[in-house]
Amino acid sequence: MSRVLIVGAGLTGSICAYLLHRGLFSKVRVSVWDKSRDSGGRMATSQNPSNTSCTVDLGAQYLTATPYYAKVHKSFYEELLLHGIIKPLEATIEGLISNEEGSVNYVTPSGVSSIVKHYLKESGAHVLFGHHVTHVCCKGSGWEVHQKGGSPEQFDVVVLTMPVPQILQLQGDISSCECNEAERQMLEDVSYSSRYALGLFYKAGVRISVPWAAKYVSDNPCIRYVAIDDKKRNLEVSEECGPSLVVHTTVPFGVQHIEETAEDVKSIILQELKNVMPDLPEPESTSCQKWRYSQVTRSVPERPGQVTLSSRPLLVCGGDGFTRSDFDGCVGSALKVFDVLKSSL
Ligand SMILES: Cc1cc2nc3c(=O)[nH]c(=O)nc-3n(C[C@H](O)[C@H](O)[C@H](O)COP(=O)(O)OP(=O)(O)OC[C@H]3O[C@@H](n4cnc5c(N)ncnc54)[C@H](O)[C@@H]3O)c2cc1C
Repeated sequence: MSRVLIVGAGLTGSICAYLLHRGLFSKVRVSVWDKSRDSGGRMATSQNPSNTSCTVDLGAQYLTATPYYAKVHKSFYEELLLHGIIKPLEATIEGLISNEEGSVNYVTPSGVSSIVKHYLKESGAHVLFGHHVTHVCCKGSGWEVHQKGGSPEQFDVVVLTMPVPQILQLQGDISSCECNEAERQMLEDVSYSSRYALGLFYKAGVRISVPWAAKYVSDNPCIRYVAIDDKKRNLEVSEECGPSLVVHTTVPFGVQHIEETAEDVKSIILQELKNVMPDLPEPESTSCQKWRYSQVTRSVPERPGQVTLSSRPLLVCGGDGFTRSDFDGCVGSALKVFDVLKSSL
């Protein structure tokens, strides 16, 4: 039985764990470590600190299945639809850049992180949070993986699924793996946009009267996107939760303020929001998220889905940096990672 460690409980890591369970059940024991307190990664759903049953999506907003991917990843879409995890988007999104003809947008009634939670649950993997990997070192025929403030553990195979700059920050033998200068440069060239997301929670009974559920803003230097999150997700008006709203900043704003604290940037976003939506009431609470690595602007050339940094012992990297920043990009990457593990174990 090979011990496999997947670093990252985001979409790519969770689908890798799920595929390993389905395809190599009797051959692997899978652990998933994430430095955060919960699963989701950039498919993050944040809870209202005053009422944890009220949530807002701070990262990915909806899935877009193009006709091509609706066919290629049919089983993935069908499974999520069957479990009620995704539903077709019904609400109006103002300013949505037109999708390829025949594409379908999906939303997640329980928040976008429910997709990741579904795959982790189905995988049966041993998932540990608060496990921040710092070093990956060769030890015998496997890997010794070190985490901040905890004891190192041994694994036969390691799969890294975080954004590529975070892979390159890891210490240990990873930098001396098989990859040559050109391959390392290829990884260093992968780049991401940066932006902030602000979630606002309102008390039950508050109404936000706008004719859209989400809107792309084109004339504000700070704000790019606003969504009434519960309306976007087609949720009924609830007695328990008021509306929740999410704001995404523009990328230039994100880049300009990237070294500031989320708390400092929050007040700038709130001020700008008053220009975009002057009638907005005061929120009950807020949650601000810095996305230093938001969406891939330059991926690994040819989008191979994975890069194998060492074949013996096996160390594979996946994630949207190796494909593209959306659901299908992550599914595609996880399938490629799975192929490598299947042929090696
Ligand atoms: C603001 C925003 C809007 C988006 N909108 C959409 C959208 O509408 N539709 C869409 O399809 N996609 C969207 N995306 C893109 C999509 O969210 C990502 O492509 C996808 O979530 C990436 O998943 P991943 O698993 O590859 O990486 P991540 O989600 O980044 O997962 C990596 C995980 O690794 C963990 N990690 C990192 N370093 C370490 C370490 N050293 N030790 C342990 N754990 C570590 C992180 O905590 C994280 O949980 C959006 C992204 C953002 C940020």
